[in-house]
Amino acid sequence: MQWKVLKAHLLAAGSANLTGEPADRYIARSAAGPGAGGSGAVFFAMGSHRIKLALNPESSIVIAHRGNGVVDLYFDGQLIPGRLLEPGFHCPDQAFITVTGSCIFHCRYCTVPEIGGKRKTIDEIMDMVESVRHRIHAISITSGVQTSIEEEEAYVLEVVKHLAFFNLPIGVSIYPADGTPERLKALGVTEVKFNLEAATPALFGELCPGLDYDRLWSALDRSVELFGKGRVFSNVIVGLGETDADLDTCIRKLTSHGVIPVLRPLNPVAGFAGTPRPSAERLEHIFNMHRLALEHEGLDARGALTMCTNCAGCDLVPGRDE
Ligand code: SF4
Repeated sequence: MQWKVLKAHLLAAGSANLTGEPADRYIARSAAGPGAGGSGAVFFAMGSHRIKLALNPESSIVIAHRGNGVVDLYFDGQLIPGRLLEPGFHCPDQAFITVTGSCIFHCRYCTVPEIGGKRKTIDEIMDMVESVRHRIHAISITSGVQTSIEEEEAYVLEVVKHLAFFNLPIGVSIYPADGTPERLKALGVTEVKFNLEAATPALFGELCPGLDYDRLWSALDRSVELFGKGRVFSNVIVGLGETDADLDTCIRKLTSHGVIPVLRPLNPVAGFAGTPRPSAERLEHIFNMHRLALEHEGLDARGALTMCTNCAGCDLVPGRDE
């Protein structure tokens, strides 16, 4: 079975039952992204390929840990040998840190407001990065919104100023205010991600009350001018009720503006609990649309240095998952 086909099936399942030897050092516990606030996740790797799977004892996919990260994955009657990757923070090779684990907004697909985590101090963040410095090549930062969009950005900028100490590429994904791309660029940030989240403005308006789709587009366009084509990303969730045609239009608009889309299968939590995850067949179809759109604009996801396109744990990434 080709890796991209296997990964599409594993993403459609979304979870695995981890058995065998103790595997604590391989378990990622996240305050954002798929599986946030859950019982953890593991990164299964085959060669340079990887996938993040939430831990769920009821999953039909079994990962049997044989010790030292060596595992066998059982899927559809097949045994697939691989290994577990040790996360830096949240994902392998990066310290991906959620600065503020709570949010005043209530996007319907997101658990961060329910989790209601606290804001990390700059000292805590510096200590976290220091503790994994020897096994990361990038730092990525995201955040909820504790009191206001402007106050959150000001705090994230302070964090970024301190993180410059590590001399690593820094990626930042926050909800933008006016002038956010300029301020991030001035601090030496390498890449940015402003998430459209939904494939259409109508869906976004329904799911993210109080947030502005047009502002995201303005931030993306300004970012491409400042950071360059291929250094700007945007998450779009697959499975919120959009059609494939909606997604194709959104993907092509993003790529034609120089932005690399991150096509994230819906994790059915919060207001989407009980909604089916997108099927493997749909994910493969969208992967092909994504690959063609990137090729058409001369964009290469393999050049990403930070955040999800570099990690490739939770999505099918053209160029990486071939
Ligand atoms: S792809 Fe993104 S959300 Fe998923 S583990 Fe990697 S960095 Fe985290």
